[in-house]
Amino acid sequence: MSQAISFSAQVNRYFDTAAQHTKHDAHLLEQIRECNFVCRFAFPIEKDDGSIEVIHAWRAEHSHHKMPTKGGIRFSMDVNEDEVIALASLMTYKCAIVNVPFGGAKGGVKIDRKKYSAGELERITRRYTFELHRKNFIGPGVDVPAPDFGTGAKEMSWIADTYQSLNNELNAMACVTGKPVELGGIRGRTEATGLGVFYGIREACSLAEDMTPLGLTTGIEGKSVVIQGFGNVGYHAAKFFQEAGAKIIAIAEWDVTITNPAGLDIVAADQHRRETGSILGTPASKQLPAGESALELECDILIPAALENVITKDNAPKVRAKIVGEAANGPTTAAANDILNSRGVLVIPDAFLNAGGVTVSYFEWLKNLSHVRFGRLEKRFEEYAFRRLLSAVEGATEKKFGEEMLKVLAQGADEHDLVRSGLEETMASAYQEIRDTNLRLKGKTDLRTAAFVGALDKIALCYGEMGIFP
Ligand code: NAD
Repeated sequence: MSQAISFSAQVNRYFDTAAQHTKHDAHLLEQIRECNFVCRFAFPIEKDDGSIEVIHAWRAEHSHHKMPTKGGIRFSMDVNEDEVIALASLMTYKCAIVNVPFGGAKGGVKIDRKKYSAGELERITRRYTFELHRKNFIGPGVDVPAPDFGTGAKEMSWIADTYQSLNNELNAMACVTGKPVELGGIRGRTEATGLGVFYGIREACSLAEDMTPLGLTTGIEGKSVVIQGFGNVGYHAAKFFQEAGAKIIAIAEWDVTITNPAGLDIVAADQHRRETGSILGTPASKQLPAGESALELECDILIPAALENVITKDNAPKVRAKIVGEAANGPTTAAANDILNSRGVLVIPDAFLNAGGVTVSYFEWLKNLSHVRFGRLEKRFEEYAFRRLLSAVEGATEKKFGEEMLKVLAQGADEHDLVRSGLEETMASAYQEIRDTNLRLKGKTDLRTAAFVGALDKIALCYGEMGIFP
């Protein structure tokens, strides 16, 4: 009977496949592959009823080739040491792929958050932060956590506050990202991953050489899109695709799939869910009949944005999308990946495509270190410069723009604009790098392997510069 392989073994399989396409020293590859530090904690917390419970938690720092290390903290009963190590290693490769200068890390607390009061969650989070601090596993230049499954801005605020109370240092707020804006968070973080998914796929769709073999024209306008998972990532990705002129022909949620071949209204679907608790019954939509799967619908772009392992060897032969954009972490099994590749489906890998969140976290960290909101210094200056330019155009052409038009044309960039611009540049240039690597390997591999090869090369270069390995 075949035994299921561990999560970290799966990640290492991707690593090993990519490593075969490089010429790096075997010891250097071993150093990159191994997880550098893992810390396991067990600490007591007092519950509201006065009883004591022992909480189990981990933090793994996979690679220190760049500092600080970075990665989310999840609260889940599925957390275990192997998962934390695997996710930390994925963070290393993800950051390298999108040129975010961090090593990879991940943290996990083995709890079901639904079973704890707000006060208990606060005590768990603060004690976990205290333990991280005690072991030197947190700090603006050491290791910077972020939200992940089961955690959000509230937990990040508790972490920042606890760390600050232990460290009377200038840059203390840069010890964690994903904070509320009022506490040093950044505008544009909420939609960052969905927007990054949109930018990444849009870049792929802009290249005629890659679209023609798929039987597609370039651009997003008119393309049919199916989204699985209408949460933070799925909703925002769907919204940006719709705004760019794509037709969202199906949205799949855990309870129902809704369709409309002419395109669903994303804002209406979200509004309907807020009012009723489900997307079922969204105006101008039909329910997909039982037994049919959204993943197997004919479309140009399929975006799994919910769970891992949803495209398997069983349904991969039935996927009729031309492009699969992996917004979720690990939605395609290794066997399914091979099937999709052999069928000529363009798979845009998760390690690249969902890196918008960590990219904008990087911007938040930079903001905290510089102690100034992006755009604060230059916004007005830009506006005045644009107005002078427009006034010169008016003088030369005798055309008057009018105040409303001037306001639009002369607007200086604020934090939101700059974050989006930085994210767009990051995703577009990273996609081109992955594609170039794939071309350099003469198409012998797929985008996922090419992305890993690029990451290994960049990390190897860092170790090379340190003079440790040949
Ligand atoms: P979320 O919890 O906001 O949304 C997930 C959505 O999927 C929910 O609406 C849920 O109801 C739906 N869902 C659950 N089971 C489903 C099923 N069987 N079929 C269809 N839909 C189902 O989570 P999210 O933040 O949007 O994350 C989605 C994925 O993206 C996860 O794999 C996550 O690890 C990954 N990711 C998220 C971020 C981020 O910044 N949020 C960053 C990187 C990767």
